[in-house]
Amino acid sequence: MRYPTIQKDPGAFRVRPNLLDYDATCAEFTWDDARRALSGLPRGRGLNIAHEAVDRHASGPDGERQALRFVGTDGTSAAITYAGLAERTNRFAGVLRALGIARGERVFSLVGRVPELYPAVLGTLKHGAVFCPLFSAFGPEPVRLRLQLGDARVLLTTRALYRKKVAPLRGALPGLRHVLLVDAGGSPEPGTLDLAALLRDAPPYGETAPTQPEDMALLHFTSGTTGTPKGAVHVHDAVAAHYATGRFALDLHPEDVYWCTADPGWVTGTSYGIVAPLVHGVTSIVDEAELDVDRWYRILEEQRVTVWYTSPTALRMLMKAGAARAARHDLAALRFVASVGEPLNPEVVLWGREAFGLPVHDNWWQTETGGIMIANLPALPIRPGSMGRPLPGVVAALVVRDDGDRPVLRDGRAVLVTEPDTVGELALRPGWPSMFRGYLGEDERYRRAFAGGWYLTGDLATRDADGYYWFVGRGDDVIKSSGHLIGPFEVESSLMEHEAVAEAAVIGVPDPVAGEVVKAFVELHAGWRPSEELRLDIIGFARRRLGAAVAPRQLDFAASLPRTRSGKILRRLLKARELGLPEGDTSTLEGRA
Ligand code: ATP
Ligand code: MG
Repeated sequence: MRYPTIQKDPGAFRVRPNLLDYDATCAEFTWDDARRALSGLPRGRGLNIAHEAVDRHASGPDGERQALRFVGTDGTSAAITYAGLAERTNRFAGVLRALGIARGERVFSLVGRVPELYPAVLGTLKHGAVFCPLFSAFGPEPVRLRLQLGDARVLLTTRALYRKKVAPLRGALPGLRHVLLVDAGGSPEPGTLDLAALLRDAPPYGETAPTQPEDMALLHFTSGTTGTPKGAVHVHDAVAAHYATGRFALDLHPEDVYWCTADPGWVTGTSYGIVAPLVHGVTSIVDEAELDVDRWYRILEEQRVTVWYTSPTALRMLMKAGAARAARHDLAALRFVASVGEPLNPEVVLWGREAFGLPVHDNWWQTETGGIMIANLPALPIRPGSMGRPLPGVVAALVVRDDGDRPVLRDGRAVLVTEPDTVGELALRPGWPSMFRGYLGEDERYRRAFAGGWYLTGDLATRDADGYYWFVGRGDDVIKSSGHLIGPFEVESSLMEHEAVAEAAVIGVPDPVAGEVVKAFVELHAGWRPSEELRLDIIGFARRRLGAAVAPRQLDFAASLPRTRSGKILRRLLKARELGLPEGDTSTLEGRA
């Protein structure tokens, strides 16, 4: 079922949206326009993300503006200005120099949202080294694997995380020369250094390393939803995309108070938790605590957040708690809410209007794309359940796949889906600045991600007659039943329309007649109890909406669905458990440390 389009009145925005005329902007905009909006290193010495993010705002009156505002677990907040952040960034770069870290060497982090992280990311880039974040919830083995794959030279972490996750396997990491503890308090563990002491003694750094746009800047491991994570390599040129997408998709203006709730351990935490907001000179909220409904509403209210970037998982959790919880707070400062990471159910978009007085804007992208590619843009009408339209500069298409799930080629070019509402693999025309430049150590895998002139995303989608894209499912999650191609997202969204269902995940299970049939796992809203009657009621409900061929035949109640640390439902794990198969790589599974 499709919901009515939500029209928007640009006059109702408190500031003039950065993108008003989609067609005209797309026709005119080129990535070079974004590059020109950046300042570049002084005297033509190249391009560096840290310079764009902090140094160019650090002098003059802009330097006194708040760059980051940390909200502690006790609710108090402490701000740091752009000038202050620049000073700390220099110190961290100075520490790397003093430790003899060379350009291109890798600096990893394994921390939550601690204040030390931000100057460390920027200082690493300033020094021309490469930054790579890890989830602090990883266990020792996934930590070791990634440190080894990425050839880590330096690791920033805490005493507790070091003891638990790094020390036991340190012997396997001869290349890891320095471990910097943010909380050593004057007495570092054996084999580690006290970051605070090093920062105190660091000599002034001075000029940013002369990095070129194609120099490696960031290494990001994918979420591992489909299997072993891949290390996506990004370069300094990516900052042009962080700038443009922050402008068009997140509608950032310098006076905004912006809050990105992403964990710093995955790509959103860097691209939109650090780089994009700083490049735009906004004030960013950093919440050191974990997701908690009332706390989140309090932060939105007390910090007067104007632009909020969060995830479907978080929004579904707020929705589960009910709109009445939102009504207790003054959320009038909020002017824009966006979501990323997973398909955003239409139900959640509409609920946003009830809770925040604003619809939620979906954004689609991947670790590999480095930045937002498709989105429901601020001033454009929203189609609930659609990912929106390609950003200016982004050329998207749907490619036809063969039986082996590879693109069909004709004369070396990919054959594209031209009919509206027809499923194809979502593809992007290579050349955007934040495009990954490789999978670390996996050249063949990288090559296979491109074919017939396109980057293949591995996601399936449709496009309607007006150019809006609709997510169908990950290539691997799509269910083939009696000749139908069933996208899990559509089925899950329908299930969520049932009053008892809070969250849903569906998979295909083998069936002798249909090939596969749909099996659903649902989490219930508070106050509902699993029963046979409810199971039949939900299945019947889905049948009436979706038809018998697409609706789930089987349904299990689940206390909670398995998800990655970045909030994605792990359908492949549900499927492996269901079929009694090995669980595969579960290193990014939430709650496994
Ligand atoms: P791996 O590649 O290791 O399996 P992953 O693909 O989950 O992990 P990410 O790069 O973090 O790792 O996630 C990108 C994927 O998340 C997209 O390819 C898509 O499947 C999903 N995704 C992100 N945003 C959206 C969205 N707005 N709508 C639907 N799906 C989304
Ligand atoms: Mg992926």
